[in-house]
Amino acid sequence: MTLDTFLNDLPHVAAQTEPAIVKRKSRDFYWYSPALKARLHGLAAQAVVMPRTTDDVLDIARAARRHNVPLTVRGGGTGNYGQAVPLQQGVIVDMTEMNRVLKVEHGVARVQAGANILALDRELRGQGLEIRMFPSTKRTASIGGFYCGGSGGIGSVRWGGLSNPGNLLGARLVSLAAEPEVQDLRDREVFCLQHAYGTTGIVTEVDVPVEPVIAWQDLAIGFADFAAATAFGRSLAMQPGIDRKLVSVIDARLVPYFPHLSDVVPPGHAIVIAMVAPAAVAVVDDLARQQNGSICYRAAMHEAEDDPTRMPLYELTWNHTTLQVLKKDRSFTYLQCLHPAQDMLESVDTMTRLLGEEVMFHLEFMNVGGQIACAGLPVFRFTTQDRLDAIIALFRAHGVSVANPHVYTLEDGSPRQQIAPELLAAKQRNDPMGLLNPGKMRSFTPVAQETPA
Ligand SMILES: Cc1cc2nc3c(=O)[nH]c(=O)nc-3n(C[C@H](O)[C@H](O)[C@H](O)COP(=O)(O)OP(=O)(O)OC[C@H]3O[C@@H](n4cnc5c(N)ncnc54)[C@H](O)[C@@H]3O)c2cc1C
Repeated sequence: MTLDTFLNDLPHVAAQTEPAIVKRKSRDFYWYSPALKARLHGLAAQAVVMPRTTDDVLDIARAARRHNVPLTVRGGGTGNYGQAVPLQQGVIVDMTEMNRVLKVEHGVARVQAGANILALDRELRGQGLEIRMFPSTKRTASIGGFYCGGSGGIGSVRWGGLSNPGNLLGARLVSLAAEPEVQDLRDREVFCLQHAYGTTGIVTEVDVPVEPVIAWQDLAIGFADFAAATAFGRSLAMQPGIDRKLVSVIDARLVPYFPHLSDVVPPGHAIVIAMVAPAAVAVVDDLARQQNGSICYRAAMHEAEDDPTRMPLYELTWNHTTLQVLKKDRSFTYLQCLHPAQDMLESVDTMTRLLGEEVMFHLEFMNVGGQIACAGLPVFRFTTQDRLDAIIALFRAHGVSVANPHVYTLEDGSPRQQIAPELLAAKQRNDPMGLLNPGKMRSFTPVAQETPA
């Protein structure tokens, strides 16, 4: 049997075939989407392998080529769109044993791709450093999974998106070419792995830019209404003199879903959640008062993050907002939008007027091409696929870009429903047989398998 012969070729690599474990490692957070829940439920690989070194990964790639076995790479398994769900069985490559920080020098950390992001940041903190950007799933996600499946998050208000030049400086990747090989990528070459769902290679190491650590302060600032909170959030996000790592705006109707804030935020108030440097707290307080807002919660972010019983405020933002709602009511779902930087306040105002009855809004400010724009991850009750499609169409008709989180291919999930030609070229070069996460890149056709003479 192919799987047995595949595993027999890898006696030195830890493997798992226990069905319950393989099933658990074949899932991610696709169930956020009712459409994907129906489509992907029950799909599973046949085995999990756990490499410890790049050589192990190279051996796995060779065995996959030899026996024609599909591979789906997995970090923390927190991806949203079935990114890490195998569509065609095969084997999960669980990267979490490759979790070491290899070196830190000249503002760059060389890290194995399976490193947990919180563990990485803690290790860096011991050296007075921190990573620029992390997802709200920091406690469970891997750094490789973030670059291969994510887009940005906490830190994006200053540093932009993950794929902006400078936010990933290099990477080591194992290909599934006819002769699998190790590639060391620099500068622009790293583009081929970013947000590619592991379809273009298995990333074993990444070069991550690091900055001096800041003792970030979590703040929640209350405002009488969403428009006032949005205007303040935008002005805070744009302040060049304030060290800020996160600026989010949260609809008043979402606050009751946040256990430890619902008691401190005045009823009916929208909030701005911010992470700022200690020296900036008094300045933010003053700016907030000028716009009729007031700080209603303050905590040291690292203390909250290091205590498993507490919640840093970033776990209420980005896609965690949806999770807090889903914990209480599984009938909700969400979208991923980007409001234009120009006319941002008008854009948000238009959409809240058109959909405010049905949709709870929250905004995440980020630097897009040097300008402050905001992502919106609106949360609403799922009724029908037609209504979901109509809401997406309404956002798009009003100039708001939507990355649809209810589809599983790279093309369908991208705002323009297509992928960059460089990504397709990397796929053809690095995985001509289409063994890496098959089915996720719609525009790719595998080369025909050679039949033995
Ligand atoms: C509650 C919640 C909040 C979230 N918040 C954010 C956020 O703030 N920002 C954001 O960008 N995303 C967010 N996400 C999405 C996801 O958590 C992040 O993208 C996360 O960084 C993924 O890391 P992971 O290790 O869990 O990846 P996985 O889910 O394991 O993998 C993600 C994708 O990358 C591929 N992959 C993983 N490791 C490798 C590797 N070494 N080589 C090649 N391919 C690989 C997988 O095959 C898969 O396609 C959120 C998701 C949830 C459920």
